[in-house]
Amino acid sequence: MEPTRTDWLVGQFDAVAVAAAYACGHCNSTTEIHTVDGVLRVAVHHDDECLVLNGVLPSAPDVMRAFASSVPDTSHP
Ligand SMILES: [Zn+2]
Repeated sequence: MEPTRTDWLVGQFDAVAVAAAYACGHCNSTTEIHTVDGVLRVAVHHDDECLVLNGVLPSAPDVMRAFASSVPDTSHP
């Protein structure tokens, strides 16, 4: 029997929606989105004592939550 694997259907995603959905799980961050010379820039303003800001914890889980929440339900199998 073949092992069960996680199967993600990614396709196109909306980078602005991902950025807008980002929230730090360790502080009361705010997110600012703007474009500089045609490149989308996302600035996350963490609280001064935030463990993500200070490099103690990674932002990867928060980024993945933002990505997952930005994908329309129709993209899930
Ligand atoms: Zn933070």
